[in-house]
Order: sequence, then structure tokens, then C-alpha cells
Amino acid sequence: MEAVPWKVSLHGGHSGAFCDHAEGTLQQILEAAVAQKMSVFGITEHAPRLGARFLYAREIELGWDVPKLERDFRAYRSALDPLVREFGPRLQVLRGFEAEVVPSASYSQVMRRYRSDMDFDYMVGSVHFVGEIIIDGEPEDFERALNRAGGLEALAIRYYEGVARMVEALRPEVVGHLDLIRKNGRTYGRLDTPAIRRSARETLEVIRRHGCILDLNTAGYRKGLGCPYPEPWLLRQAHEMGIGVCFGDDSHGPQQVGAGIEEARLYLLDNGVSEIRTLAKEGDRVVRRSISLQ
Ligand SMILES: [Zn+2]
Ligand SMILES: [Zn+2]
Repeated sequence: MEAVPWKVSLHGGHSGAFCDHAEGTLQQILEAAVAQKMSVFGITEHAPRLGARFLYAREIELGWDVPKLERDFRAYRSALDPLVREFGPRLQVLRGFEAEVVPSASYSQVMRRYRSDMDFDYMVGSVHFVGEIIIDGEPEDFERALNRAGGLEALAIRYYEGVARMVEALRPEVVGHLDLIRKNGRTYGRLDTPAIRRSARETLEVIRRHGCILDLNTAGYRKGLGCPYPEPWLLRQAHEMGIGVCFGDDSHGPQQVGAGIEEARLYLLDNGVSEIRTLAKEGDRVVRRSISLQ
């Protein structure tokens, strides 16, 4: 089965073995990636959130604690190398993780330490929290974040400022789901007001300066947002600024591997983007490549 060069995902591969809200094993996920004719598949499990106050309700129900998250993360890292070797002839597997921005005071050191001490190929920098309140979780939490910020526009601006700070602090190769604020925020009002656009543009400037790749995240389809992250105005702005994008299926189980990637290719072409920028392994080095979507 011949892999399709542009079928690349740099964000996903969350699995039931290492994540409370995912399904299946890494083995099954990678088999699915081969079946989808993917050429490069980056596995990016969530990094631990080092604070009991950041545990999800389901994790608490399961009796999990912070040391358990750390143990699982180390086990996750150990599981990667044998899979890279096993799948090597059929699929290039990259070893990554999805960084968090909590706890605010220490995430920068913690995530950089994971990165350097555990020998990952790359990192996806994502912001799921504003002021330590989760913004892509339960509606009650989102309302709390809204009230704390003083409304949707203020929260969106704080969110984009948080993304810029994260990029400065972590210098991730990939920036995850840039307008994740849409997931819960869109029912409360517009997320493209002039002030929000200004803030997002400043964040894009930081992303451009650090040479990060934007995650064209197809979970937007499954979450009912009608398009991937980022939405068209943001994607076009990024493209005009010369920022590269790459698909991320944000898969949380084998059945989500590659989901939405065909539509997302057309979405990119419709918005004037005719190539993806991706990461690949050459020997021990991680290099960047551009691949045509035509
Ligand atoms: Zn997840
Ligand atoms: Zn995420």
C-alpha cells in the first residue's frame, strides 16, 4: 500500500493506554494510519498537568493522581521507540507530546525539561487553559473563565496572549488548534471582532518569528464547528504572513486517525494554501519539508 505524501498528521495519536479520554492502543492507531495511507504520523500524547487541581473529573473518578499521570507519561515515552522501529518500513512515526500551560508559574520549565530529558522529536504547544481555568472542557468551567475575564472578547484576547507567551516560553515546532477558544466560545458571540483580530495577529507574528508550524486541526469537524482550526480569516492571515500549516487529526482513538484530512486538503486549497509544511526524520535529525497538496 503506497503512502500519500501529503497525508501527514503532526498532532494526534492519543491512546486509551495513556489518556483517560482516548481509546485503543498505539499499535491500533498506527495500523489505522498505515491503512489511511499516511506518510508521516506524529504521536503527541498530553503532557502531565502537575497539580491535583488540574485533574479532570473522569481522572478523579478513576482514582488517578498526579504521580499516576507522570508514570503514564514515562511509560508512553518508553513505548514509542519500539513502535518507531516496527512501523518504520511502512510509516514514518515521530515521537512528540502536547504541552500544557499549567501550572502557570512552572509549566515553562516543566515542559522544556520533558522535551530535553526524554528525547522527543518535537513538541506541540497547545493552550487549553486561561488563567489556569480549562477553556475546552465543561460549559461551567468556560463560564467561570468568561466571568473572570469580564466577557468573551476579553477572554479571547487573554487566550491569544497566552498562546503568544507559550510560544515564547516553549518554542514548540507546532502550535496546536490555534483558535480552540471557538469550541466553547462561539455560542457566546463573535470571535473575530477587530480587537480579537488584532490580538490574534500579534500572536501570529510571534509564531512566525519562531518558525512554528500551525496545526490544521481536523477535530473542528467532529466538534461541529463546520471547519477545522484555524477558521478561514485566521488561516488566510497566517498564510499571508508566510506561516506554514500541517494537518493534525487530533485522533483520540484508531477510528479518528486521518479523519477529516481529505476535506481539510480542499479547505486549504480553497483558502489559497497549496502546500503543507511538515516535519520528517533524517537519521537522528528532525527536518522541515514542504509538500504540495496538488
Ligand atoms: Zn485529549
Ligand atoms: Zn489539544
